[in-house]
Order: sequence, then C-alpha cells, then structure tokens
Amino acid sequence: MRYNIVIIGGGPAGLGAAVEAKKNGIENVLIIERDRELGGILNQCIHNGFGLHEFKEELTGPEYAGKFIEMVKKENIDYMLNTMVLNINENKSIEAIGEDGLINIEADAIVLAMGCRERTRGAIDIPGYRPAGVYTAGAAQRLSNMEGYMVGKEVVIYGSGDIGLIMARRMTLEGAKVKAVVEINPHSSGLTRNIVQCLDDFNIPLKLSTSISYIHGKERVSGVTLSKLDENRNPIPDQDEFIECDTVLLSVGLIPENELSVGAGVNLDMRTSGPIVNNTMSTNLDGVFACGNVVHVHDLVDFVTKESRIAGRNAAKYCLSKLEKNDTVSTEAGEGIGYIVPQNIDTSNDEDVNLFMRVRNIYKNKKLVVKSNNEIILEKKRKHMIPSEMESINISKDLLKNITGNISVSVEEA
Ligand SMILES: Cc1cc2nc3c(=O)[nH]c(=O)nc-3n(C[C@H](O)[C@H](O)[C@H](O)COP(=O)(O)OP(=O)(O)OC[C@H]3O[C@@H](n4cnc5c(N)ncnc54)[C@H](O)[C@@H]3O)c2cc1C
Repeated sequence: MRYNIVIIGGGPAGLGAAVEAKKNGIENVLIIERDRELGGILNQCIHNGFGLHEFKEELTGPEYAGKFIEMVKKENIDYMLNTMVLNINENKSIEAIGEDGLINIEADAIVLAMGCRERTRGAIDIPGYRPAGVYTAGAAQRLSNMEGYMVGKEVVIYGSGDIGLIMARRMTLEGAKVKAVVEINPHSSGLTRNIVQCLDDFNIPLKLSTSISYIHGKERVSGVTLSKLDENRNPIPDQDEFIECDTVLLSVGLIPENELSVGAGVNLDMRTSGPIVNNTMSTNLDGVFACGNVVHVHDLVDFVTKESRIAGRNAAKYCLSKLEKNDTVSTEAGEGIGYIVPQNIDTSNDEDVNLFMRVRNIYKNKKLVVKSNNEIILEKKRKHMIPSEMESINISKDLLKNITGNISVSVEEA
C-alpha cells in the first residue's frame, strides 16, 4: 500500500491533521487507529468542557470528536480501525497489524499522533500486596463510561490531576463514596475549574502534601494508609491516617507514547518526553511530523487541534515539495519555565508561532518575558500561573522575521 500521508492515531490530533492535510491538496491520506473507533481519549470523556476555543461552545468529549469524525468522513479520508502500528522507520515504511494480519504501508510523510498513556502503580512503587481494586483513573473512566462497569464503591484517588478530579465526580454521580483525593504536592495538579466543579461541589476532601504509603488488602483493596509529608516530601512521624476503601484510582501522570518514534530515530526532549519539533511540527526526521499529546501533554483539546492543523498543513506542503526546513533559532526555557514547544523555529516560515509552555511553580502577578539576543521582544502579564495550566504566547510572523538569536522565555516580576 502507498499513501502520501499516513497518520498514526485517530484521536483529535490525528483527525485534525488528516482534515487539514486533505484541505491543503493531498488526496491520499490514511489514518491508522488501534481502537475500535475514531476519537481517541475523547470517547471516554463524557463530561463537558471541550471546544470552548475551537467551536465557542461547551461540548462533551464524544461531541467534540464527533465533529472531526464527520469532517473526516465528508472529506472521504481513508481510515483503518482495530489496526496497531508496530514499527516505522526513517524511510517512512510502516508495519501494522490489523484484523487481516500484517500490513506494510509506504508513506511520503508520516504524522505521529499516538497520544499518551497513564503511569501505573509500578511506576510509583506503593508498598502492599497486589489486590484487585487498583486502577488507573483513565482505565476506570473507560470501564465506567464506555464499557458500563462500576469499578468500586468506596474510593480513594491518588493524584489530583484532571483525570483524577473528573473521576472523583464521576464515581460520586454513579453512587460511589469518594473518601479523599490525595496529592503529594502542596497544590493540586489539575485545572482550577475542575477542583471547584469536581471536588468542592461534592464536598470531596483534597488532602495536599500527603502520600499513599501503603495499600492494604490481599484479594481486594481493604484500605490505604496516608502519610502527611513535610516540604521535602518526607513523611512526618505520627501523622499517618488509615482510610477504609475497596478501590484506589491512580492519577499520577501521563507519558507520551513514543516507542514508535524512538524506534524510527526521532529525537525526544527529556523534559516533555515527546519529539523535538519546530514550528511546522517537523521532527528531526525528514517528512515525519508530530502533534497532540504525543508531543507534550495537553490539558485542553482545543490546543491539540491547533497543533494538529499545523502538522497536517506542513505535511501537505512537504508532499507538494513546498516545505523547506531551516531550523534557524531554538527556544530556551528560562527562569520559572519547565519546557517550551516548539523547541526549534524556522524564522523563514511565513506563519505566526505559538509557543506553548508550562511554568514550574505557582506564580501570582508576574509576567512572561520573551527575549532574543538579550533584548525583550514581547511581554505578557499574568495574574495567576500554575504548572497544570498550559501557557501560550503568540509571536507574529512580522516579529519573527527580525529575530536572529535564540528565543528565551522566563517568569519575571510584573
Ligand atoms: C480524563 C481526561 C479528561 C480531559 N478533559 C478535558 C476537558 O475537559 N477539556 C479539554 O479540552 N481537554 C480535556 N482532556 C484533554 C484531551 O482530551 C486530550 O488532550 C486529547 O484527547 C489528546 O489528543 P491526542 O489525539 O493527542 O491523543 P488521544 O486522544 O490519546 O489519541 C491518540 C490515539 O492514538 C491511538 N494510537 C496510539 N498508538 C497507536 C498505534 N501504535 N497504532 C495505532 N493507533 C495508535 C490511540 O488508540 C488513540 O486513539 C482530557 C483528557 C483526559 C485524559
């Protein structure tokens, strides 16, 4: 099989990239998805809060995905379901396994859109036996929202990221008692709106600076021991607390799915665990692009869509031999910034650039300062910044044309 553009992953990133590639003149586009339907993680996110930027309305996850699936169908874009990509190489040969066995596909360009997966209990080493009743929050979300199973009745959630917060509300609405959400940091790692709407509105306690130090139970979870932590994250003696429960949901981080990318020789950024990309979402491999959660973990799907359009458009330009790649400057995370995407910028590209970044701490009344050659080129005042909410700064194409040195962003006094 041969396609101009093959997109790996049929979540919002893959769908957006496919539609954009088609609109930019590429007839021959294929999406490969390992699940039984298109839509990615959105299919299990039945709560609302999606699409405020993109569609100016508040949609559920399946509604948001549904709009893009419709566009894919309208544009007659090919897709394969129940098909998992096993290997890609730098020559853009793809090996996948589907319902009829192994498939080999040659592509002119590839868009990586595999999303991310959850960290599990093994990654955080909680002592105890291995009883039933320990789930990742996303697995529990899929079981309850898509497969129709209730995973437990008395629940403790570990980690206050968005999936954990949303599952606290979901389990409560389904009749479970959520006894606590436990977070090792002194602040939640989820969006503020989710803390209010998912915990405060249901009187679910959020225990900050606290860890689960033991999971009790042999056959089934019977409880957890919580330990209060000091500022160095060491347990404070004599402050342990036992909570009886039959279920522990883990919401302790997401990891971009990059085994395929690494196998092909794509360079990753250690800070994001995703491919290093430039402002066209090109990786270091010629004709290989990436977008969405596989690049860095997004909290808002609207930004995933924005990135996917850039990847799809530039993959199309690449196939039409209209894309030159000259990474002229790099971006550097300065004081207070954890990472910046894109990591490289081709200043000759005739489009505005959106820098996406996360701050390292909670900041009030500060500003984000963008510098090049030690000169301030842009400033953005921010009343409140937290690591869980992604920040973005737009650099216009006109401003970009005059930039010759690397671009740094830092948090400074307002
Ligand atoms: C619980 C939860 C709640 C959220 N709530 C909100 C919210 O309220 N508002 C909001 O805007 N955003 C929210 N988000 C974020 C948003 O849903 C994600 O950022 C977005 O879905 C990421 O899109 P993606 O396409 O990059 O990844 P995904 O949606 O994960 O899609 C990746 C796809 O790639 C497929 N895939 C992976 N590997 C392979 C392979 N080897 N072969 C074939 N297919 C493969 C996967 O099966 C999957 O379908 C939430 C996310 C979660 C998890």
